[in-house]
Amino acid sequence: MIVRDGQVLARGRNLGRTNGDPTAHGEMIAIRRCLADHGTAALQGSTLYTSGEPCVMCMGAILWCRIGRLVFAASVQQIAAKMDEIMISSADVAAKARFVPITITGGVLADEALRLFAKPVERLSPAKSRRGGSDPSSKVLSAVPQWVSWQGGRADRLLSV
Ligand SMILES: [Zn+2]
Repeated sequence: MIVRDGQVLARGRNLGRTNGDPTAHGEMIAIRRCLADHGTAALQGSTLYTSGEPCVMCMGAILWCRIGRLVFAASVQQIAAKMDEIMISSADVAAKARFVPITITGGVLADEALRLFAKPVERLSPAKSRRGGSDPSSKVLSAVPQWVSWQGGRADRLLSV
């Protein structure tokens, strides 16, 4: 979802299988719709909210469109326990594109969002993931900071409480 001045400009969800287009990630759909409906200027300085940390393709598009703020829930590392992911964080991509000022906040409602990516038998309860139980992804999750914020080239990783 892309928001500017409290107004939702565009929404998107993953349409990769539906459209037969591997690039049709939710972020790309939202960006394309925003461009079509509002033009390039509306994207500049807007905020993009997403349930999963953007992949390198989407993060590249976010930076080229000069979206000013990114807020994501589950991290690349967390999602990778459920499906294929390119293991590069959005902060790592942003750090290589210092011509674009962007603020990144990650880990917001990550446990809730992670359930959206999970197959039913693999669903995690927050307590189970914290305890490091028998779920195979719990080892990964316990090693991943739940909150990540990034601004101006400095990455601060804060463990959730
Ligand atoms: Zn993507």
